[in-house]
Amino acid sequence: MDKQSNIYFVATPIGNMMDITLRALDVLSKSDIIYCEDTRNSSNLLKFHNIDKKLISYHKFNESERVKEILDNLKNGKVVSVISDAGMPIINDPGFVILKEVVKNGFSFEIIPGACALINAICGSLFDAGSFCYMGFVPRTDVERKKYFEKFQKMNVTGIFYESPNRLLKTLKFLKDYFGNINVCVCRELTKLFEEYKRGKITDVISYYEEKKVKGEIVLVLDKIEEKSEEIDLNKEILELKKQGYSNKKIVIYLKEKFNISKNKAYELVLNYNEKEKEDV
Ligand code: SAM
Repeated sequence: MDKQSNIYFVATPIGNMMDITLRALDVLSKSDIIYCEDTRNSSNLLKFHNIDKKLISYHKFNESERVKEILDNLKNGKVVSVISDAGMPIINDPGFVILKEVVKNGFSFEIIPGACALINAICGSLFDAGSFCYMGFVPRTDVERKKYFEKFQKMNVTGIFYESPNRLLKTLKFLKDYFGNINVCVCRELTKLFEEYKRGKITDVISYYEEKKVKGEIVLVLDKIEEKSEEIDLNKEILELKKQGYSNKKIVIYLKEKFNISKNKAYELVLNYNEKEKEDV
């Protein structure tokens, strides 16, 4: 350990046991106590790397309770490490409550870098990795999803989301209905034996996963959705159709077929166009 810190938040592998840095192993070897989510899971990792240390479990349900114990340990001069089941603690894993309290109580901390699923996913997706947003787990209800993905769309950058295999298809279908045939990449089982990056148009990716059971851990990456330029093109199209005397209903059907977007989306575009036209008069 190069600097004198009291507590270390250490990244651990997301699949491949070898994905842990030399510094992380050094920190863990020199810790008096290691707080982890699941002691069985973490003892396998430590055994693999020949580290024999006291493990104490913490999770989101006892994190606040453990804070007091950790602060006492730090006051008594113990070296403490915090790890999660996989990847970087704090990133959709417990650790944040501990970190905030540690800082509030005047102890110094270090983050020991390493594996984090979202980083592998953005790199392997082949989408723009220069500016992206990470939004954690996709919410479960349609109302929440709508708000959540609208927020993403407004950012106009690549989006990274954690998703469970059981809900992947439902989410992909929701996205197709909402945004049309966008580009996606499903990153599955990263760093593991059956690692897979499935990139392409969302309709093709849906067909692919409809044919085989979705298994394993998943990060979903969406290419940025350029609402503005696409809507400008569609507005031009609506204008042309209106000039030719098409009804709103016929325009909705035409847009749906030609641009492979949902009926709701086409309807929304026509309504927006009509509103804008009224304002311009
Ligand atoms: N702290 C972790 C990190 O640094 O990425 C994330 C923990 S979160 C509770 C677990 C989610 O991360 C999984 O449901 C999945 O979405 C993603 N994940 C973790 N490991 C993964 C892997 N090997 N392949 C794909 N996704 C993974």
